[in-house]
Amino acid sequence: MTNKTQSNRAAVLLGQVLTFLDDPAIVGEERSHTCFETGAVVIDAQGTIAWVGDRNAVPDEYAAYPQTDHGKCLIMPGFIDAHLHFPQYRMLAAYGKDLLDWLNRYTFIEEQRYGDAVIAADAAGFFLDELLANGTTSCLAFSTIHPVALDALFTAATEREMAVISGKTMMDCNAPSGLTDTPQTAYDDSSALIAKWHGHGRLQYAITPRFAVTSSEAQMEVAGTLKQEHPELVFQTHLSENHAEIETVARAFPWSKDYTDVYDRYGLLSERAFFAHGIHLSERELLRLSETGASIVHCPTSNNFLGSGLFRYHHTRQADRPVSVAIGSDIGGGTSYSMLQTMRDAYVVSQLAGSRISAFDAFYLATLGNARLLHLDDEIGKLEPGKLADIIVLDPDATPAMAVRNAISTSLHDILFALLIMGDDRAVRETYVRGKPSKRRK
Ligand SMILES: [Zn+2]
Repeated sequence: MTNKTQSNRAAVLLGQVLTFLDDPAIVGEERSHTCFETGAVVIDAQGTIAWVGDRNAVPDEYAAYPQTDHGKCLIMPGFIDAHLHFPQYRMLAAYGKDLLDWLNRYTFIEEQRYGDAVIAADAAGFFLDELLANGTTSCLAFSTIHPVALDALFTAATEREMAVISGKTMMDCNAPSGLTDTPQTAYDDSSALIAKWHGHGRLQYAITPRFAVTSSEAQMEVAGTLKQEHPELVFQTHLSENHAEIETVARAFPWSKDYTDVYDRYGLLSERAFFAHGIHLSERELLRLSETGASIVHCPTSNNFLGSGLFRYHHTRQADRPVSVAIGSDIGGGTSYSMLQTMRDAYVVSQLAGSRISAFDAFYLATLGNARLLHLDDEIGKLEPGKLADIIVLDPDATPAMAVRNAISTSLHDILFALLIMGDDRAVRETYVRGKPSKRRK
């Protein structure tokens, strides 16, 4: 796209500007962020951040740019969701016993519809618009086994200029015949989709076996081969979510030391590997994940909904063998598209697990933290000159109940904490993708 065909996105956004600089758990809360209470973010014509600071110090060269005053609202980087399933967008709130029951009763039925290009296109548009309405501007998402489903998601993401990472799901056993591929077709389809989409605009391809329950040894080998052929690609799957799942994997791969060892055997642990859940990991598994730089994606609303267990945030990150932790909604096992609600459940889980996280921890995870782990931080995750203007505006007074609560906030942490406990899509006043206002509703 040339500058001439792109609409001019030059703008000055005024409000309370907040951006994280580093991990509060490592550098401390005070050094983790910068906040300009009467701040300004200048976006240039191409949708890149040109300047950030106090509104009284905006350089003269931007004086002619149109201004939007967001008052006391928070202007911050767009949320990044590190784990969710686009074909499950209709499946929130499906009543089920636990993970495997829920997969068989609902998910494996619903996902079979995605071989239809029209259904997939409708779903992709709704899904991405819902994310934008909730302030999520980028994600690492699952699709289905069908190449047309991934085509639909990446086409819709391209139309919205969003940075989306996804891949065709690989499943060749323990699922209905309408939802399985083979090791060979998984390799062929994945290879063709990598050539077609990886690096196209802001898109990235992710090698995506669903989990060890639904991939044979032969298909896990294919995943390893794809990783060897394309070491730059993200790898995503599920790990150690539920006890029955763990027992199933142990039976299917009797030679394995544990669940993590299955993925390790095929060379799938790396700094670009993302394992959703990781609730019931042993010390050996945590050490191995730490050694390889792989990340666990904490999905608290999903874990609570399916009764999977309490993720131990501080234990997982323990200093002598720290495992990187990202955060995701896990729609549709997760119960909300909102990363605010996801943070809320992360806080609640941390309380129940006996190691409380702060609002700074939570907001860091959902912005710069996820950006860093996904290697997207050269472009997004922080408000600073040169980064792309994926920006959200959050209103701490979005509802009457939030307004009366916020009236007694005495610190930035107070404001952020009330936002994550009480907020949802109603608190997202605007979402900008590359500087373009993008909060859409059907
Ligand atoms: Zn998932």
